Amino acid sequence: MTAGLPSVERAIQLFVRFPGIGRKSAQRMIHHLLRRERGEVEQLLQALQALADRVGHCAICHNLAEAEQCWICSDTRREAHLLCIVEEPMDLLSIERAGLFRGRYHVLGGRLNPLGGVGPEQLNLATLESRLRAGQTTELIIATNPTVEGEATAHYVNQMAAPLVSRVTRLAYGMPMGGELEYLDESTVYQALAGRRNF
Ligand SMILES: [Zn+2]
Repeated sequence: MTAGLPSVERAIQLFVRFPGIGRKSAQRMIHHLLRRERGEVEQLLQALQALADRVGHCAICHNLAEAEQCWICSDTRREAHLLCIVEEPMDLLSIERAGLFRGRYHVLGGRLNPLGGVGPEQLNLATLESRLRAGQTTELIIATNPTVEGEATAHYVNQMAAPLVSRVTRLAYGMPMGGELEYLDESTVYQALAGRRNF
């Protein structure tokens, strides 16, 4: 389909690396770009260049940042004694969107996966430990995902943190809002029952 158009083929090969993008979607995006004014493609190029040049990681929490500290670490109104552990910056954004948490974060940069070559050294655990040793944190909230690797990571972090913080908590598991028991898988129902709380 792209015979004789090596530049198009090359772009397709790059686009299909995005999550959720197959070959057909990649082709559609590229044809959309090719129909645009040249200026619009230039704008896209500049935006990508700025991403590569300017976006790095926060020196304190490893969130994405365009300065040495991210917008959360540099916000003095955030509560310093609450620290929430997440796997990735996207997870941090999800918790921020919920609008309840006013503490700070630590982004691990992944989760333990020994078979995939991710051990404790590959995660941002050394900086976490020194933050905890600084002694400001009174509650550590572990918000890794409820997957096998996320659980293993939570246990690891808990063992490391328990001697350093007075309270370590884990996000609750259970029924999704608007969910119905009939349609939930048994492990979700099991966790919802095990994690029940007083009215
Ligand atoms: Zn930060």
